[in-house]
Amino acid sequence: MHLLDSLREALADLDARGLTRRRRTAGTPCGAHMSVDGREIVGFASNDYLGLAAHPKLTAALAEGAKRYGAGSGGSHLLGGHSHAHAQLEDDLAAFCGGFVDAPRALSFSTGYMANLATLTTLAGRDTTLFSDALNHASLIDGARLSRADVQIYPHGDTAALAAMLEASDSSAKLIVTDGVFSMDGDIAPLGRLLALAERHGAWLVVDDAHGFGVLGPQGRGVLAEHALRSPHLVYVCTLGKAAGVAGAAIVAHETVIEWLVQRARPYIFTTAAPPAVAHAVSASLELIASDEGDTRRAHLATLIERTRAMLRRTRWQPVDSQTAIQPLVIGDNEATLALAARFDAEGLWVPAIRPPTVPAGTSRLRISLSAAHSLDDLARLEAALCRIDEGGQA
Ligand SMILES: *Cc1c(COP(=O)(O)O)cnc(C)c1O
Repeated sequence: MHLLDSLREALADLDARGLTRRRRTAGTPCGAHMSVDGREIVGFASNDYLGLAAHPKLTAALAEGAKRYGAGSGGSHLLGGHSHAHAQLEDDLAAFCGGFVDAPRALSFSTGYMANLATLTTLAGRDTTLFSDALNHASLIDGARLSRADVQIYPHGDTAALAAMLEASDSSAKLIVTDGVFSMDGDIAPLGRLLALAERHGAWLVVDDAHGFGVLGPQGRGVLAEHALRSPHLVYVCTLGKAAGVAGAAIVAHETVIEWLVQRARPYIFTTAAPPAVAHAVSASLELIASDEGDTRRAHLATLIERTRAMLRRTRWQPVDSQTAIQPLVIGDNEATLALAARFDAEGLWVPAIRPPTVPAGTSRLRISLSAAHSLDDLARLEAALCRIDEGGQA
């Protein structure tokens, strides 16, 4: 049949370019040591930066939430699905990471992907010029497209180029959007300079902190708290399936922004609310993140980051400019990246290959993702493998 044939051809074409993706199936909870496709491995692939995904307090909170609220929410937030657990989580989030604005309020979502679609489609429209960093996450790119705004891409982190683009724009509505921590590079956006530009040009500054929330800033309050930024121009998106270890996301902003989103954001209005038990578990996660245990986990993660960078300095790959848990080895070629990932795999280490369209063509890489769940022994295994593979040459 012709329809299937054309898909088969397209799949073969992907394969010929080293772009086929394959899912691996975990048989154990997310953690440093996992059974994946039936093999015991040490995982450096997850975004579970604090090692909370399988924390007994969170699994207990999820179970307790299910007992109290049931399995499903039963409806959208505006049609019966909004529970006490969601309301509590939104209050907790506004208090935890809303310090960048007066009268903060939070709006919870099932996923970060949807929160980003909601933010951009609701704050930008046909009359808006939307300025987007060249390395922004796919969900921001898709939100920008769906908003129908005039999208201008500025070179990664280049605030001088952005300033010139803002100067040249006569648009009456402007929005700047950036990852807080860039998901495949680990570097942090120049947020102070971006905010100064946003204020000067009357623009919104939307910061997607998927990789900073829970990890950066005092008590893990995120990248805005880390830089002590404050402004009504700021709109903050945090995701709750990475460091927070559960699932979901939230937009945090001045209460007026959130009220506008409740009224108008289609990715908020036209979808079933996440199970209340999930919101209940995230509230428990926020307590852990802010606790002494959270501090201990962040301190351990910082040690792992520092040691990993030191070990990369002793190899031909060299660390990139990342102070976060994301430590890429940029290789370039797709096949060479896959071959290198296979070497780590043979050592019982899962260090995933990242290829286009997740990263720009010609910048394929291995992405080492560190977690407080890793022990120093796990890191020693990574180091031993790195050294053997480095000496082995190729790639
Ligand atoms: C993971 C990620 C998202 C999407 O969040 P989900 O909750 O997984 O849908 C958004 N932005 C960035 C930068 C991410 O890394």
